Amino acid sequence: MSVLCNRGCTHSAPYGAAGLLVYRYSSSGKVEILLGQQEGSTQYGFTWDTTWRRQDLYRTVDDRMRQQVLEKTGLDLKQCVWPTRKLTNDHGGWVHTTFLAQPKDGFEISDLNLDAETRINMEWVTRNELDNKDLEPTFKTFVENSLDHILPPDRHDLLLSLYG
Ligand SMILES: [Zn+2]
Repeated sequence: MSVLCNRGCTHSAPYGAAGLLVYRYSSSGKVEILLGQQEGSTQYGFTWDTTWRRQDLYRTVDDRMRQQVLEKTGLDLKQCVWPTRKLTNDHGGWVHTTFLAQPKDGFEISDLNLDAETRINMEWVTRNELDNKDLEPTFKTFVENSLDHILPPDRHDLLLSLYG
C-alpha cells in the first residue's frame, strides 16, 4: 500500500517513516554521525544511510523505535541519551521524523550486533567526510536540506564563533 502526500510524492509507507541519527563528538570536537552501508542487493546497494530507518511507523514512534533499533543493530537506546532532538518533516498526510541519539561514553561500533540483511558496514563520519560518501538518495536530500537543522555544530566552530 502506498500513499500520495499533499506534496505530491508517493510514499511506500502509509503513515510516515522515521530515521535514527546517532552522533558523537570526536576527540578534536567534531561532530561525527554513525552511518551504515546498505548491502548490495537493495535498490541503492552499497550506499550509505542513517543508522536505521523504518518505513511503517505511525503510532508510539518512540517505543517502536527503541525496540526495532535494538533488534536490528543491537544498539540499546537505554544506553543512549535519546532523543536529544527530533526533527519532523510533515508532507501533509505523511510525516518523516528524524531522531537524534548520542551513545554513552565508551560506545564502540563493535558493540553493535548488526543485522547483515540491512547494513554491512558502520562508520563514524564527519560533516566534511559526507562529501566523499555515496549517500542513499533520500538521505542525501536530508543531508543537503535538514542536517544542520538537527545536528549540533562542531565544538571547534562553536568556540570560534564564541571567542574567535
Ligand atoms: Zn511526500
